[in-house]
Amino acid sequence: MPFDKFTYRNYAKSLLESSNLKKIDFCEIRFQEDLIENIYFKNLNLENIYNLESKGFSVRVLLNGNWGFSSSNIITKVSILEAFSKAVNMVVGLPKGRVTLTTEDIYKDEDIQSVIINPFDTPISEKIQYIKSIQNDLLKYKNIDFSDASLVQVFEKKLYLNSSGSDIYQERTRIYPHFMLYKTIPELTTLKLNTRPVGEGYEYFKNYPFQEEIPKAAENIYEKSKAKSVKEGKYNLLIDPSNLWLTIHESIGHSTEMDRVLLYEANYAGSSFATVSGMGDLVYGSDKVNIVGDRNQKNGLASIKYDDEGVKTTQFDIIKNGVLENLQTNREIASISGMNHSNGCSFADSYSSFPLQRMPNVSLLPNESKDLKLGDMLNIMNDGIYILGDGSWSIDMQRYNFQFTGNIFYEVKSGKIIGMIKDLAYQSNTQDFWKSCIEIGGKSTYSLEGAFNCGKGQPSQVAPVSHGAPISLFENIKVLNTKNEN
Ligand SMILES: [Zn+2]
Repeated sequence: MPFDKFTYRNYAKSLLESSNLKKIDFCEIRFQEDLIENIYFKNLNLENIYNLESKGFSVRVLLNGNWGFSSSNIITKVSILEAFSKAVNMVVGLPKGRVTLTTEDIYKDEDIQSVIINPFDTPISEKIQYIKSIQNDLLKYKNIDFSDASLVQVFEKKLYLNSSGSDIYQERTRIYPHFMLYKTIPELTTLKLNTRPVGEGYEYFKNYPFQEEIPKAAENIYEKSKAKSVKEGKYNLLIDPSNLWLTIHESIGHSTEMDRVLLYEANYAGSSFATVSGMGDLVYGSDKVNIVGDRNQKNGLASIKYDDEGVKTTQFDIIKNGVLENLQTNREIASISGMNHSNGCSFADSYSSFPLQRMPNVSLLPNESKDLKLGDMLNIMNDGIYILGDGSWSIDMQRYNFQFTGNIFYEVKSGKIIGMIKDLAYQSNTQDFWKSCIEIGGKSTYSLEGAFNCGKGQPSQVAPVSHGAPISLFENIKVLNTKNEN
């Protein structure tokens, strides 16, 4: 059955315009369909196909400061009334709860992301052949002994109505082709291709320049396999956006979620060292560091015009000239902290999920005054290490002390790349690290990276999120040799 937004809207309105609404303070209904298709390859062999079609609705009611919530995958006028009754029965008679909401504008709108090719319009047999052809191209190189591939695709439809009068329909598409290469001799060496998860259609995968990248990747994995192991110490680090995005995600993205700061959320990944009173005051980094939350960012994984509470999304400062400016909020968390409006950070990962405060795209702004390029940044650094690609990570439950690895590391002497090194992790704490940021690359070095699977909450939900950054320079950072640690 197709997602019939006209009929669903009429069903919702028959509830929202009924006398039932007199029983409660606020009500919202979200219809959602998620199509997910994941394809996995090991070498030339198709290993697995995961296919999910999930469609249904949820009703959320607010009564006397308590949320009631119910969902169903049977979408009829009757089932919506039943879900409403269940949600009300959950909270009726409870003592007064803590929930209040900011007052937000009412919107009637439709926003359909424009993509050239919807991934679900391309036959799966064609996708399998295409992945296989790329795997074939990779395995032609003698330095690539083995390769994993996956293609993750999501098409999401949401129709949101609330008792204030908002009525919003939106569609989003995202895709992530991923290739991991292995060289087994003299020891296991891994290398990822530079494909990234994006809020785009199938055209991203089809137009990706694999033919240019694969020969370079084959050279890189060979060079990485024979690279010398890093000597521990303090180094200047020039960090590419393909690595820095994850450090932004863990040390800034999660720690500036206001629900964590207020200890409303600590289940999954802990709380935060940041404080509400620190807004406008807490020195988070050097004055070069400007971080924004932005769900309008082009091709961003968390980009959407309205969030799952019907709040119009905007760009907002999180860190301005090194100082904490704002925290991420939804309507409830913004209201608790006395803010007038939510900054649009609500997201639910399926029709049956309770919307949580989730991260917007959180990005480091490029240098506006000088368009510094890679060569300029290498010269400014003079001696140090240039890091590309993400690897493993760990951070404490206050989002403070951390350690990150990477994909490729180059030794730099007198502003020149002199060769690859390996076995490297950088270690710091959030404030020391961002305070040591001494230069930011220009617009031309900016790139948007991200992840499909940021986890939060119990029961756990996943959310897609992007992080943009330019190439950035950090001085005097502790570097560990990951071999020595074992
Ligand atoms: Zn996360």
